[in-house]
Amino acid sequence: MRPDAEVCRAWVREAAARVAADRDRLTQLDSAIGDGDHGHNLDRGMRAALQAVEDLGETATAGEVLAAAGKALIAKTGGASGPLYGGALRAMGRSLDESGDLAAALRAGCDAVRKLGGAAVGDKTMVDALEPAVKAYEETCDLEVTADAATTGAESTMTLRARKGRASYLGERSVGHLDPGAASTALLIRALVTAARD
Ligand code: ADP
Ligand code: MG
Ligand code: MG
Repeated sequence: MRPDAEVCRAWVREAAARVAADRDRLTQLDSAIGDGDHGHNLDRGMRAALQAVEDLGETATAGEVLAAAGKALIAKTGGASGPLYGGALRAMGRSLDESGDLAAALRAGCDAVRKLGGAAVGDKTMVDALEPAVKAYEETCDLEVTADAATTGAESTMTLRARKGRASYLGERSVGHLDPGAASTALLIRALVTAARD
C-alpha cells in the first residue's frame, strides 16, 4: 500500500494512544531485564511526536509527518530506544517521499535500526519483532499478517539471551523475560496496521 500523510498522522496518533495505555506494562518488562524506564521513555517520546505532527498542519507530506515524529522521538524519548525509533521513522519518511511504497519504507526503517544499533535477529531486541514484520509485509502485503509476525517475533524474545543493550549485562539471567523494545515494536506495528486499514 501507499500511505498518505493522513495515514501517517493516524499512525502517530494510534501509536501514542497504545503506548500510553501500555506504558506501565512496558516499564515492568524493562524493570525485569533493564532499568525500568522503557514505558515512560516511549510515552514521553510519543506524546512529543504527536504534538510535533499536529504542529505541522495539514499540508505536510507523508514523509514530513514521519520526519517530524522521528525528530521529536530522538529529542524526547531518551534511552537506547529513542534514537533507534526516531532514526527508523526518519528513514521511513525519506523513503516514503521517494517511492511512496510502504514495503520500501518499512525496509528502510528496519535497516536504520540495524545500522544504528548493530543488532541482528536473535540478539533479543526490537529487531526480533521488526525484521519478521517487515519480511512478512514484503512477502504478503497483508497488514494483519504483518502485525501477527511482529507479535510472534516479540514473543520469541522470551527464550533468547540478550546480546545487545542493557539486558545483555544480565547474560543468562535475561532468558525467560520478554524484551521491552520488541514488545513496544509489536505495539507500534499494530498501530500502523490499524491506521492503514481504517
Ligand atoms: P535504555 O535501555 O537505554 O533504558 P529503553 O529502556 O528505552 O532504553 O529501551 C530498551 C530497548 O531498546 C531494549 O528492550 C531493546 O529492544 C532496544 N535496544 C537496546 N539496544 C539496542 C540495540 N543495540 N539495537 C536494537 N535495539 C536495542
Ligand atoms: Mg530502559
Ligand atoms: Mg534508561
